[in-house]
Amino acid sequence: MKIVVLVRQVPDPNAVRFDARAGEIVSGTAQAPNEYDLVAMEAAIQLQESGQADEVVVMSVGPAKEALNRCLAMGADRAVAIDLPGSLTVDSQATSRILAAALKAEGYDLVLLGQETSDGGTGSVGPQLSVALDLPFASNVVALDASDRTLAVQREVEAGRQIVELGLPAIVCTLTGLNEPRYPSLKGIMAARRKPTETKTISDLGIDQSLLEPSVSWGRLFLEEESGEGIILRDVPADEAADKLIAFLNERKLLG
Ligand SMILES: Cc1cc2nc3c(=O)[nH]c(=O)nc-3n(C[C@H](O)[C@H](O)[C@H](O)COP(=O)(O)OP(=O)(O)OC[C@H]3O[C@@H](n4cnc5c(N)ncnc54)[C@H](O)[C@@H]3O)c2cc1C
Repeated sequence: MKIVVLVRQVPDPNAVRFDARAGEIVSGTAQAPNEYDLVAMEAAIQLQESGQADEVVVMSVGPAKEALNRCLAMGADRAVAIDLPGSLTVDSQATSRILAAALKAEGYDLVLLGQETSDGGTGSVGPQLSVALDLPFASNVVALDASDRTLAVQREVEAGRQIVELGLPAIVCTLTGLNEPRYPSLKGIMAARRKPTETKTISDLGIDQSLLEPSVSWGRLFLEEESGEGIILRDVPADEAADKLIAFLNERKLLG
């Protein structure tokens, strides 16, 4: 089985700084692989270690050097980096168009990707690829069992889990419950330096740039104004605070 893992590089959630006045993330923020994508990567490596996958390829659209290196160090065999022209802003639909063309060129039995990114966060790339490639699709996957030509997965649903079976080739979006992504070992980091990264452009993929014009445009980021009213008790002994709280709740008939 050949697995392609889709990985997006995002601002590192532990380092990200937001400029409220400009309404944007401060430029120069450290970058990291999207968390759910590392879960997809770990699942792919586990399938390879158990002998069910022959090859694991990691693929990304846009700047993703750090993310691809991390995945190669975790155990991916090789990487495909798709460069975007500097002037081009892509929305999720354009991203999916590019990934669909690159996946067709690459070939795959299973495509693993994260449920959503920590910045764009539309959760739309998986479903869009499923339509573009006409493939069976499962989202919110927290357990995965592969056999020769089928996949049994568990999906997290509101009140529990649901088991879904898919014929391969298929697309699966992963959630954090699926596994604990490994930290690359020193040996893995050294090995990654010798692994190939193929760089492609959108014209290599035969895509006409005019078809990638965004149909959704992003505005500035802003924080919602807090409007909730409340009473804060400061420097009050605990028993007095408890009495005040009970009186407050009683007044509003909130205690049974
Ligand atoms: C500076 C900036 C400006 C942007 N401007 C716009 C804009 O104007 N309009 C707009 O609609 N969007 C804009 N985006 C969003 C960006 O194009 C989307 O984040 C991207 O298209 C994917 O959508 P998503 O993040 O919602 O992915 P999701 O659908 O949430 O991602 C699900 C999974 O798909 C995979 N995936 C997603 N993206 C990639 C990728 N590039 N390569 C490989 N795998 C991937 C990952 O496995 C991910 O976990 C902007 C992003 C940035 C950083």
